[in-house]
Amino acid sequence: MKKARYFKKLPEKKVECTLCPRGCKVADLERGYCGCRENHNGTYYTLVYSRACAVHIDPIEKKPLFHFRPGTRALSFATAGCNIECKFCQNWNISQFRPEQIKALYITPRKMVEIAKINNTPIIAYTYTEPVIFYEYMYDTAARGKEEGIESVMISNGYIKREPMRALTKVLSAVKIDLKAFTEKFYRDVCHGELKPVLDTLLLLKEVGIWYEIVVLLIPTLNDSEKEIDAMSKWIKKNLGADVPVHFSRFFPTYKMTNLPPTPVATLERARKIAMSNGLHFVYVGNVPGHPGENTYCPGCGKVLIRRIGFKVLENNIKRGKCKFCGRKIPGRW
Ligand code: SF4
Repeated sequence: MKKARYFKKLPEKKVECTLCPRGCKVADLERGYCGCRENHNGTYYTLVYSRACAVHIDPIEKKPLFHFRPGTRALSFATAGCNIECKFCQNWNISQFRPEQIKALYITPRKMVEIAKINNTPIIAYTYTEPVIFYEYMYDTAARGKEEGIESVMISNGYIKREPMRALTKVLSAVKIDLKAFTEKFYRDVCHGELKPVLDTLLLLKEVGIWYEIVVLLIPTLNDSEKEIDAMSKWIKKNLGADVPVHFSRFFPTYKMTNLPPTPVATLERARKIAMSNGLHFVYVGNVPGHPGENTYCPGCGKVLIRRIGFKVLENNIKRGKCKFCGRKIPGRW
């Protein structure tokens, strides 16, 4: 067990976790909501440090990050647990279990960086479950990676407090945030979370200047109305700017949400159109391999900058960060 970085001691050997907005108050020998942190005699500990339950090498496009080192591969890992519970979670068989219920490999941060180097993966991704709940493991791996020239990306729900997120941005190179909807009702009823802290995280990422992209999984009837997409994309444009990439992704029935059909492609296309008409420059269609909405287009001349099919990059016309046709600077980390 490793001591947690963010908690306050309370009377009677209780602790308050100050890592995520849930703010669990935990009695001695009890755990917080995520099941990954435990109070021992008034000190809080993480139970998942160096306990990786899923380790794979993925294209960076799978995260998805489209404006960050296109065509590279990322050593990707997770531990058990999550700090929210989405009824449509694709990785529920690791995110919704406690560490002792899932087989894990003992891989230290130092070893993880070695594995990345041996496999020629220039990036490590903290992903699959919610990396906030394995914060210390992520932080130490990212810091170690940074010393060794390996970049780190966090694939997150953004449900984290300001101070730990700010500290983390010093060792990360990019973040992907799942914006699950634009209503508190959806977050409360479908994810057992809150919208406001996620929006605050997005504002913080803009403030510190780290690269970040947004994914919105559109679920039929629950978060796909024109009104909601309109309000969301206007908020993004006003508060984050026109250049943050937004991926509208296709939902497939899973976990506790098998009563709804896959998202019609027309719904994703409509969302893309609304967001672009509200001034966003880079809006993508996700989980529809071969769709033209997977490509990056130059907002200046309209030509295809990066042509993709699924997670594959077929063509890249960005040269030294600029459109090779018209010379316009393209935001991202190339
Ligand atoms: S990280 Fe876990 S223990 Fe801490 S507040 Fe969030 S859910 Fe609770």
